Amino acid sequence: MDYSHFFDKALDRLHDERRYRVFADLERIAGRYPHAVWHSPKGERNVVMWCSNDYLGMGQHPKVVGAMVETATRTGTGAGGTRNIAGNNHALIQLEAELADLHGKEAALVFTSGYVSNQTGISTLAKLIPNCLILSDALNHNSMIEGIRQSGCERIVFRHNDTAHLEEIMRAHRGRPMLVACESLYSMDGDIAPLAKICDLAERYGAMTYVDEVHAVGMYGPRGGGIAERDGVMHRIDLLEGTLAKSFGCLGGYIAGKANVIDAIRSHAPGFIFTTALPPAVCSAAIAAIRHLKTSSWERERQQDRAARVKAILIAAGIPVMSSDTHIVPVFVGDPELCKKASDLLLEEHGIYIQPINYPTVPKGTERLRITPTPFHDDGLIDQLANSMLLVWERLGLQLNAKSLAAE
Ligand code: PLP
Repeated sequence: MDYSHFFDKALDRLHDERRYRVFADLERIAGRYPHAVWHSPKGERNVVMWCSNDYLGMGQHPKVVGAMVETATRTGTGAGGTRNIAGNNHALIQLEAELADLHGKEAALVFTSGYVSNQTGISTLAKLIPNCLILSDALNHNSMIEGIRQSGCERIVFRHNDTAHLEEIMRAHRGRPMLVACESLYSMDGDIAPLAKICDLAERYGAMTYVDEVHAVGMYGPRGGGIAERDGVMHRIDLLEGTLAKSFGCLGGYIAGKANVIDAIRSHAPGFIFTTALPPAVCSAAIAAIRHLKTSSWERERQQDRAARVKAILIAAGIPVMSSDTHIVPVFVGDPELCKKASDLLLEEHGIYIQPINYPTVPKGTERLRITPTPFHDDGLIDQLANSMLLVWERLGLQLNAKSLAAE
């Protein structure tokens, strides 16, 4: 049997559909973020990262790096196994208390990634509710879709952020146990869910709510509790899910909610029980980041300021910035090959790294460059970005908006 052939064919398919992914070989420089070294085929080059989800640069914060090094030096590197085998490492207990406090919940449970939190969290939660009907936003992340699929429960997809459609479905299933699963901030378009309205409906129709705040924790709300904190609805949401890997600059994911719900998930979730826990050094670093962002708003405010400036400068230059209510700046390209070419030219000729976003991450025909400014992108870097993008847009014959119109 020629097994190799199956894999070659699978790869050929991706190439034919222009979906084959290439990742640049990059090395971030702590203390100089967003500057990084690109190990290019022609040797090392300095580049500027414009698409990292280390939104606030906490991955290089001295408190965070210091906590990681201190804990690793004191306790060693790994966790030594699953919690089932090795027990709870103390830093995990502290981290869970920190997260429960962040979200004003009775308890939190940490997983090895945000992906696993959703996949095993949603599937376990829904399986524990007899005859559960899951109502899922049309643009939910793959990790949520996998969690829903693995629950084996019936699910109905409601139109993205469309509470009228959600209510129609809820009304038709009144009396049945329902779980509404959505994100608070959708990271490819940068739009925000109507959480208060979703909570109203959940309360009216007796549904539970599960909200993914992966792109919002640390970023929104007076203490970085996310969009739910900002909108004053944190206490109305049953389960909040987040990551430690984006604005907190580390690794891992979590859910937070009522103690008995969290305990039931802890006791049944395969993705929690059968995998090695997060290392103590990572937990300590995450605690340092969360604590810092609970009291410091400088990073959040500066990041919003930078995102607003990038949008304004690009729009004034005629670059087709897609509308976004948040810190995410998507730029429309609309073609997978041109999107990849624009990204390649920016990297090779301008030292700017922006990963192309193609199908299936976004629908075909809406391929884009997704820019995520950080507090450390200064005015000079923003001007350089705008000039470089203009040159690339002109070179590739990509559509530019009329400058005067766009600036309005
Ligand atoms: N949820 C959403 C909405 C995401 O965009 C992602 C990943 O980017 C995840 C969950 C997974 O989080 P993590 O990267 O911590 O695995």
